Amino acid sequence: MKWNFIGKGSAFYPPYGNTGAYMLCKKSLYLLDCGEMAFDFLYHHIDLDAVDHVYVILTHLHADHVGSLGTLISYFYCLHKKRINVIHPEDTVVRLLALEGLETDAYCYSTQLGENEAGLRAAPVKVRHVDNMECYGYLLSDGEETIYYSGDACELPEGIREMLLTGELARLYHDTSTHDSPNPSHCFYGKLEAAIPPEYRSRVYCMHLDSPCEELLKEKGFRIAGESEV
Ligand SMILES: [Zn+2]
Repeated sequence: MKWNFIGKGSAFYPPYGNTGAYMLCKKSLYLLDCGEMAFDFLYHHIDLDAVDHVYVILTHLHADHVGSLGTLISYFYCLHKKRINVIHPEDTVVRLLALEGLETDAYCYSTQLGENEAGLRAAPVKVRHVDNMECYGYLLSDGEETIYYSGDACELPEGIREMLLTGELARLYHDTSTHDSPNPSHCFYGKLEAAIPPEYRSRVYCMHLDSPCEELLKEKGFRIAGESEV
């Protein structure tokens, strides 16, 4: 399963783009989040006019994760008469899009990813990020391997950690912060260090970086989202 990263940055560090990823399978486009900078990236990197089906799997509704979703929906609906699929366990996204003038005649909303060309499965995992919004990571499987994508999360769920240590997870992509806050919304790298022994860190990819901290993280044995996978 090869996800291409649109960006690896946090909301307040735009040089690294919005954290999110895409995968193309035949004429289907799969997206993990669609932040404010994502549509511009996709427009310039993918032949959108050759895409038949789009599946946008959302982790939560902060602007750096859904900011250009409305534009993506409108692009496919207005230019190609195609309704893209928006997947999120909470129907709050329907209210958000309605305020942007988009009703469900312009897109298909589902709480979970249904049958699709790639045979991709996406199981939501509730994560802690902020107090006023439900946020999700995803276990993503294609029948050959399973990976975990955290979205924004201040901690690694214990069950996911166990899956990494038992080898059930091929790779783990996690929100990683350089700030150790008493009331965190992102995951301080020291927490990942404490949770993941060094011999497992080559399968852990850091994302949502808040500064140019790649060397620091690599010295700890972690990898960086978007860099070549094992
Ligand atoms: Zn967030």
